[in-house]
Amino acid sequence: MNNELLSINGTVIKPGTRMTIDLPAGRLYTHTPMTIPVHVISGKRPGPRLFLSAAIHGDEINGVEIIRRLLMLPALKRLRGTIIAVPIVNVHGLINHSRYLPDRRDLNRSFPGTDKGSLAARLANLFMTEIVEKSTHGIDLHTGAIHRSNLPQIRANMDHKETEKLARAFEVPVIISSRLRDGSLREAAAEYGIPMLLYEAGEALRFDEIAIRGGVKGIINVMRNLEMLPPSRRKSKKYIESVVARSSVWVRAPDSGILRSMIPLGHRVKKNTLLGVVADPFGESEVNVTTPYSGIVIGKTNLPLVNEGDALYHIARFEDINEIEARMDEFHEEHSPELIDSPNPDSPII
Ligand SMILES: [Zn+2]
Repeated sequence: MNNELLSINGTVIKPGTRMTIDLPAGRLYTHTPMTIPVHVISGKRPGPRLFLSAAIHGDEINGVEIIRRLLMLPALKRLRGTIIAVPIVNVHGLINHSRYLPDRRDLNRSFPGTDKGSLAARLANLFMTEIVEKSTHGIDLHTGAIHRSNLPQIRANMDHKETEKLARAFEVPVIISSRLRDGSLREAAAEYGIPMLLYEAGEALRFDEIAIRGGVKGIINVMRNLEMLPPSRRKSKKYIESVVARSSVWVRAPDSGILRSMIPLGHRVKKNTLLGVVADPFGESEVNVTTPYSGIVIGKTNLPLVNEGDALYHIARFEDINEIEARMDEFHEEHSPELIDSPNPDSPII
């Protein structure tokens, strides 16, 4: 695929080796140098170069754990091609438990960036030149924002053939198809013709075991599809077919108050279904929240304290909502943590 040896920040990674490279990313105002840690695994045999990134939003930590588990897989001994793993892209944000950079900019709205722009633009530019431009494929890992959970889902441009193939290979019940014009990493990678998936699952600042397992498995599935890993030996394994939504809508709070939520994440809803009730603390005024469309709840707030206009439920619109329920059950069954008697340091984290 690409015969030239991979080099990151001037360090050449030879086939059959793995190493951590600290990518220089300026200084803190304490004089302390800042670096973005990158772990590269180069297979003995040539193949695609897949970058895996997490915590571009610094408080989204499920992806950090997904990458940690993935890097420990014994199967990587037989890797074809290269994994370029960047578990913490927004180091400043992660340290501060914050989605943003210290200047309040959103890194995922700052791509492709420039080396003369804001701190966010410079970091975006560094990530593009040292990671994305050297890759053939990419998967970026996200969660919902603070106090918001997302159903495990892939976001990808399903009008692009190779991207569509990878999105379906990931095996999540729901794919949201979208093209972007928003300064995101996904948009910038598309400009370079690099097929890229975005995996969204769980909530900021929390571990979610099903989301983590689904992410690890999804990346393995994509790597098998790219022939970076040999096919699964489990013959009985059921393929989870995804359902693709072309649009989604946020249902917002009609009034300020305290939300009693009636519908869990992943629930299918028909038009006008009651999702929750917003009430004042005395129970004197109660306002129903209903969905204007049929679909699946792919995101929801976990905080019952809401202001008028707050986004409460994210509904993906589907033509056939019956079909998706079974897919969701299969996914849950496949990744559900078993009940355990003694704590396991690796998983599950419950
Ligand atoms: Zn995010």
